[in-house]
Amino acid sequence: MGVCLQAYLRRTPKDLERLLPLRPAIRLVKGAYSEPSHVAFPKKADVDLAYFALAERLLAEARASRVTPVFGTHDERLIERIRARAAELKAARGIYEFHLLYGIRADAQRRLAAAGEKVRVLISYGTAWFAWYMRRLAERPANIWFVLRNLI
Ligand SMILES: Cc1cc2nc3c(=O)[nH]c(=O)nc-3n(C[C@H](O)[C@H](O)[C@H](O)COP(=O)(O)OP(=O)(O)OC[C@H]3O[C@@H](n4cnc5c(N)ncnc54)[C@H](O)[C@@H]3O)c2cc1C
Repeated sequence: MGVCLQAYLRRTPKDLERLLPLRPAIRLVKGAYSEPSHVAFPKKADVDLAYFALAERLLAEARASRVTPVFGTHDERLIERIRARAAELKAARGIYEFHLLYGIRADAQRRLAAAGEKVRVLISYGTAWFAWYMRRLAERPANIWFVLRNLI
């Protein structure tokens, strides 16, 4: 079992520190929901900075086997920065993972796996799959075109 932390929340660095003694598995994502600015960073650039800072912390702790980090993102620039930092820190491949949603950036998923990274693909299933799927569509309206194109 693991927990998900959202990098856009201002409280997340503190939450991470509080979780570390539990030696947790943590999936770090940017954060998908609309939150007020006193709760979450409103600017994408700040969210990306926060994500990378948290990723660095997770990688350093992973080297000491104190956490199992999972980077849940499709942001390829960010993924490459994390991979470069992991190499600098000598964090072995396999002590961290990349998770992406099924069908999104499939080429990147394959490329990462071929490069020896541990990659998992998230799919929706069970009784709530439809609600989950609709939320993903609402998050990014361009996905409606993506679905239609695939249907055709
Ligand atoms: C495995 C996984 C689990 C997640 N779990 C949670 C969770 O528990 N709670 C939560 O709040 N959020 C969750 N999210 C969503 C996350 O918070 C972001 O909203 C979402 O991943 C978009 O941010 P990004 O990191 O991909 O980067 P972005 O900078 O937003 O996107 C980078 C690029 O990826 C592509 N992309 C990103 N998202 C999509 C999409 N939905 N459809 C098509 N293309 C896309 C676009 O080309 C975009 O330019 C999860 C995401 C993943 C991958």
